[in-house]
Amino acid sequence: MKTEQYIKNYINGTLQPAESTEFIENYDPSTGQVYSYIPDSDSRDVDKAVEAAQKAFPAWSVMHPQKRFRILMRIADIIEQHLDLFAEAESRDSGKPLSLSSTVDIPRSHDNFRFFATSLLHYSSESHNMPGQAINYTLRQPIGVVGCISPWNLPLYLFSWKIAPALATGNCIVAKPSELTPMTAFLLSKACQEAGLPPGVLNIVHGLGSKAGQAIVEHNDVKAISFTGGTNTGRKIAAVAAPNFKKLSLELGGKNPNIIFEDCDFDEMMIHTLRSSFSNNGQICLCGSRILVQRGIYDKFKDEFVKRVQFMKVGNPFNSVSDLGAVVSKEHKEKVLAYIALAEMEGGKILCGGKPMEMKGEFANGYYLKPTVIEGLPNQCRTNQEEIFGPVVTIQAFDTEEEAIALANDVEYGLAATVWTTDINKSQRVAQQLDTGIVWINCWMVRDLRTPFGGMKNSGVGREGGLEAMRFFTEPKNVCIKYS
Ligand code: NDP
Repeated sequence: MKTEQYIKNYINGTLQPAESTEFIENYDPSTGQVYSYIPDSDSRDVDKAVEAAQKAFPAWSVMHPQKRFRILMRIADIIEQHLDLFAEAESRDSGKPLSLSSTVDIPRSHDNFRFFATSLLHYSSESHNMPGQAINYTLRQPIGVVGCISPWNLPLYLFSWKIAPALATGNCIVAKPSELTPMTAFLLSKACQEAGLPPGVLNIVHGLGSKAGQAIVEHNDVKAISFTGGTNTGRKIAAVAAPNFKKLSLELGGKNPNIIFEDCDFDEMMIHTLRSSFSNNGQICLCGSRILVQRGIYDKFKDEFVKRVQFMKVGNPFNSVSDLGAVVSKEHKEKVLAYIALAEMEGGKILCGGKPMEMKGEFANGYYLKPTVIEGLPNQCRTNQEEIFGPVVTIQAFDTEEEAIALANDVEYGLAATVWTTDINKSQRVAQQLDTGIVWINCWMVRDLRTPFGGMKNSGVGREGGLEAMRFFTEPKNVCIKYS
């Protein structure tokens, strides 16, 4: 298995160019150079993919669970066997350090397949007895053809997080990865061929969101959409899907608070706050971008945090000493810099970073940014309200528990929050009052794949993970049998 310069769609089990025969340039963020080409697919490719999925559906949905399980496990094994290839492709496409893609992104991708492969063997449904009258049982049947659309920040990790449960529950799929990070989805096509996934069960259409993505959402025979991406895109997708009564799962943006109380374990908190702020250049929907620190330790926190941030190494993602690689695209780099300029206009003080990272030689045109810490901004300003999705955090002081909760909740988003305290009672009081789908206490990004994953407010609709995903990708049908 290998990467190729010309990526192809995976439709009906075969690798093929787009109907348009056009390609889109794919950039390597570490150098700013084009290194491969993506099919510029449109509704004609999506129509072909949906037709293939429909043909494959009946057979896949009734295939013996053990057989379906074995195919999904084989896909996982193939990804794991080619971990180095997948990890390198992920870093080349996204600019993230190889140390991250080889220990987080790709391992989690094969784990997603294994987790849902085993789930399908254990998935069961309920029965409701009406004593002396009737018994009801719930059938949970696959939906049919479903659409899976994913973003660029955790490319194969999030792509497989949708595809694996959809396949496990017996659906056939038309999927689109982000146009910015298509290579590991292409390698997944090859893994599926090698694993013996029947043609048409999974179809991967590459291309632009506004063209190929939109065509998936608009297609009448795609009955459900599982989408992860920005809140504005989610809104557009909901506007198309809702009048057609498609089932929708939307995992959207965040502006996550990181609440640090005076009584926390300071050293432990510091290690994980650096991670939650700057992992993957802050391009994880779960990163904490608003750091709220209790006033008694504000100065101590600020000094130590800024010192350690300045020590972080930004550079070539393939160099093992780099803590941060490149951000995903030139446009994204400019967007993040525009937010830093806005923060200054709003009265923020840049404590460190705030600039591009100048690089030399082949990396001189890559998209590198210095990790940035800002203080002195009110919570209601745009910098503290809008998702920047880059290596930029703000710090704010608070006095009381009530104030911390109010600040944390005072945004349109509600994805995740982190709370640092050694007081178990306080941690529970705070967790219960936070308007977020996920709360981490004294940790960050500790993930159990069985737990519900998703956000409140403008961070999304529905949940992924474990039973939530199995339920999303199935239709419950109640069957009532009268007896006497
Ligand atoms: P986008 O919303 O721009 O894109 C996400 C996906 O949707 C891409 O594949 C994109 O294609 C596609 N797309 C764009 N427009 C349409 C459309 N009209 N119809 C159908 N599909 C479309 O998000 P980003 O890729 O920029 O990802 C970053 C965002 O994702 C951040 O807001 C982040 O918070 C969020 N996110 C949320 C997570 C969560 O679990 N809640 C997890 C990870 C990220 P293309 O790339 O070609 O434009």
